[in-house]
Amino acid sequence: MHDRTHAAAAIAHAASTESDGETQSSAARSPKWAKYHAKMAGEFPSPFRGDDDPLARQINTFVEKLDMLRPEKGGPAFLGKNPALTYAYPDVKNITVPQAMGDLDQVLDDVVKLFEGAPNWGNPLTMCNVIPQSNTAAVVASMLSQVFSANILEGEYAWNVHRAELETAGMVANMFGWTPVNSGAIYTYGGGGCWTYGLKYGLTRVLKDSRNKGVRTDAKVICSQQAHYVQQNATDWLGLGMDNIVHVRTDVATNQMDLGHLEELLTDFAARGIPVATVVCTMGTTDASAFDPIALVREVMDRHPNPAGFGKAVLYADAVVGWSWVYFKDYDFDANPLEFSDRILPVLRRNGEAMRALEHADCVGIDFHKVGWAPYVSSCFLYRDATEFESIHRRGADAYLQARTPYNPMYYTLEVSRTASGSLAGWATLKYFGKEGMQAILGGILETKYYLYDLIRSHPDMVCVNPDDTGLITLFRVYPKDIDAQVQFGRELSDPALRSDLIKHNHLTEAVGNKLFEWFRSGKQIDGKYTPYMSFSTGFRATTYNRDGTDDEAVVYALKSFPMNVFITPETMQWALHCVAAARDEVLER
Ligand SMILES: *Cc1c(COP(=O)(O)O)cnc(C)c1O
Repeated sequence: MHDRTHAAAAIAHAASTESDGETQSSAARSPKWAKYHAKMAGEFPSPFRGDDDPLARQINTFVEKLDMLRPEKGGPAFLGKNPALTYAYPDVKNITVPQAMGDLDQVLDDVVKLFEGAPNWGNPLTMCNVIPQSNTAAVVASMLSQVFSANILEGEYAWNVHRAELETAGMVANMFGWTPVNSGAIYTYGGGGCWTYGLKYGLTRVLKDSRNKGVRTDAKVICSQQAHYVQQNATDWLGLGMDNIVHVRTDVATNQMDLGHLEELLTDFAARGIPVATVVCTMGTTDASAFDPIALVREVMDRHPNPAGFGKAVLYADAVVGWSWVYFKDYDFDANPLEFSDRILPVLRRNGEAMRALEHADCVGIDFHKVGWAPYVSSCFLYRDATEFESIHRRGADAYLQARTPYNPMYYTLEVSRTASGSLAGWATLKYFGKEGMQAILGGILETKYYLYDLIRSHPDMVCVNPDDTGLITLFRVYPKDIDAQVQFGRELSDPALRSDLIKHNHLTEAVGNKLFEWFRSGKQIDGKYTPYMSFSTGFRATTYNRDGTDDEAVVYALKSFPMNVFITPETMQWALHCVAAARDEVLER
């Protein structure tokens, strides 16, 4: 009796009793599982047009419900009414799968509730980190990828959806100055994934046996002191070992890699027969937005090749946060078609120029979910020579997957199944923003950043501590009212005699930062208005007398404003500084 015909009949029967609303006695004839089955089939997306489509309806309903969590204009920077964390850790894990089938609407209502208290990235008061509100094209594109589950591991399951990844390779490679059809792109799991790919490329190219025999040579990975901490994840998980990371000193003023030191290191390794797998240039550090001089790094690498028997080291550009400045590489600064102010034009020019040298990289990582206004995860690893990259990482075919199209990245990617949500988000962003849209958003935020900078200068008790950085971040300190912040900080930065003052004011900075977070989190209002969601750094740079960083405490703490959203205005910045001063006063009162 348990054959397929019986099952099909039971399902059909249950389905018809559902829709016809037959009497209970009639419905009772179908087995219980079939009734569940029929109910669920009615709640799955319909494969055919014409039927009522529960999916489109539910998406509309629940996006609207989610949107109801947004505050009225001028509301706090969190969603919903309750800013508190509502679970206890680890007790929250003491839960089992429910026995009965759930109610669809109830489950989705519960999903909406999970967002209660979450940060609202689009609120102009939010300026805590490099986390943008996602643009509409990217959100919808990313959601659409879920409806028909394109799997971009191979062509058969992705079909034309693969254009998103392939055309990303072409569009971005063109901006980098690479030959588009010769280059390639892999959307992956974050800037961390990109770094891992960059290191893997080096290991594969330099240690030719490593794919079969394992990593048996202590090849080095070289990056600057300012490189992102994901260097540890990558070297650890790839089995190279974190001890093989070598740091190049950075210039105290520019935070750039010191080429003299790099040359020393490469000379020494070559003399000792030690190969280098990958050299990483950070093209836009997370806080200072410093760009390593990648064209010159390429020259130094060419002068100091790996010892005989090893392949050529790979040059990876970690541009995950800084990549968007490439949009200003070819901007017409004389005609200035978008009419940016004279205040920011030289900054845009400098950032665009720095990205010109990306053409020298073998591979580059970019995050659309950072300065690309796209949802997670939409990181993209790009390589200049697709023929090389894809052949040296090539694995054999699998019995159950056949190559039906010319593009089948499963043969050389880290992942097996890959969602199209990142590739569609990135691609939609590239197409929707165009060059001028991206230039307008980036430039507009930079205008606001310099507005804040000038505003800080008009407050004697505040000082901007990264005046030379050309990124979107403003780092600043607030001092007790009677102190001339500019003068005091200048001395704290360079005079060891003021070490204890520096540390005292570091603590003040941290306390103000924590006070602001507490206010944001508790929905505090000052004069009827909510306070900004900012953050702080506990040591974004060392003092000038502590260049090698041996003194853990002789570092500079700073409050951080990282405006990322298009709704931020000069008034928001005025208000932010007002709240910083109020937080300082409250901290010092105690
Ligand atoms: C954010 C960041 C990373 C890590 O990227 P994820 O997308 O968070 O994985 C790596 N490098 C730099 C320079 C970064 O700013």
